[in-house]
Amino acid sequence: MRSLAEPYKIKMVEPIALLSPEERRERIMEAGYNTFLLRSRDVYIDILTDSGTNAMSDNQWAGLMLGDEAYAGSNNWLHLEATVQELFGFRYVVPTHQGRGAENLISKILIKPGMYVPGNMYFTTTRAHQEMAGGSFVDVIIDEAHDSKRDDIPFKGNVDLAKYEALIKRVGPEKIPYICVAVTVNLAGGQPVSMANLRDVYALSKRYGIRVIFDATRCVENAYFIKVREPEYGDASIAAIVKEMFSYADGCTMSGKKDGIVNMGGFLATNEEDTYRQATAMVVVYEGMPSYGGMNGRDMEAFARGLREAMSFPYIRHRVEQVGYLGQQLIDAGVPVVRPIGGHAVFVDAREFLPHVPQGEFPAQALAAAIYEHSGVRTMERGIISAGRDKEGKDYAPKLELVRCTIPRRVYTSSHLDYVAEAIIELHGERDRIGGLRWVYEPPVLRFFTGRFERL
Ligand SMILES: *Cc1c(COP(=O)(O)O)cnc(C)c1O
Repeated sequence: MRSLAEPYKIKMVEPIALLSPEERRERIMEAGYNTFLLRSRDVYIDILTDSGTNAMSDNQWAGLMLGDEAYAGSNNWLHLEATVQELFGFRYVVPTHQGRGAENLISKILIKPGMYVPGNMYFTTTRAHQEMAGGSFVDVIIDEAHDSKRDDIPFKGNVDLAKYEALIKRVGPEKIPYICVAVTVNLAGGQPVSMANLRDVYALSKRYGIRVIFDATRCVENAYFIKVREPEYGDASIAAIVKEMFSYADGCTMSGKKDGIVNMGGFLATNEEDTYRQATAMVVVYEGMPSYGGMNGRDMEAFARGLREAMSFPYIRHRVEQVGYLGQQLIDAGVPVVRPIGGHAVFVDAREFLPHVPQGEFPAQALAAAIYEHSGVRTMERGIISAGRDKEGKDYAPKLELVRCTIPRRVYTSSHLDYVAEAIIELHGERDRIGGLRWVYEPPVLRFFTGRFERL
């Protein structure tokens, strides 16, 4: 059988509706041409993000009824802690309300002003926390990751060991509290890191006494790519691959809103007792008791169950292949996308889609707005707006100017994705009529969330 039908059936439905073209034109104008500022009820198919937009299983919903809402020592926390220890192999776990809560803790604990934090491409919230702690992010991903056309590289998220070692030699290992390795790399297009690279990064880091911290947010998708692309792992289970991946890390931050298949939650995990002690002291200030960290008991139960479900091969195969299904339709129709297609999203190359719109007129932002207006489909910008400004106030101006079509887990069927593909393909045929944007309001940090624009 060639077709890969959804490995679930639908027990409850959430109605969605498509507004008229006139209404959509008005809504996107009111939203300042920023898809983050649209109301959910005005969106037909919402592929803004896969973060917290997952559909839980009957087993997870059943778990909600077992919520132990004690202030301290909740049963559900014990379950979540034991699940993380078992699946990831870390000794200590600290709960947080979502991934950035964990990023805040690890950055505050380990980064001192003047330090450098290498990483395989930046992520918005991750880098913001590193910089707020006084550190400087340094990109050490392989060059090919910045080239949206290179589709011959199976692990485009890999760390460039030469770049990493050059940084160590330049600034000295004592100035590097840890390397942050994202598995997969969101901003490179959901590109995975190979097991061989994780092993090498760990070995090199240990030679210099540098910690390795994973951004574990999409680690199960990464494990799926290792299984299908790294020959020696073809027969290994997803759980075994995940376990081995994390054996090459000293700790991790995790957003449960992605591969945890829940709507809210996160954690910090570490093997270091000292880091753990500092994190438990700090989590009380920022998140809540070290036995809930901002999550309800019922949320922690659903999270523990979601993590275990995520290790199912039929689940993760469908999840990643569904993303590929959308991507392939766009490729076949000649729409420029980042290749190979990553694990959670299809990234449309807005520079190539709109060659007549210069980066200073925000091609990806303009394209995301046009997609909504054309079809009611909500996507998001991942380009110069998301990249923000450096300490001197200069735009980061990344090479990649992308529109992200991010697929929530277990929410949409193939026919929803057919609609999305059709919409983008149609718009590609009319691309000449899409113009650029300019700022109306630019917020000081994470400007992509609330910035407002007008059409030129
Ligand atoms: C979403 C995300 C985060 C932050 O997690 P939140 O739960 O949204 O705070 C960190 N890193 C990556 C790669 C992410 O995709």
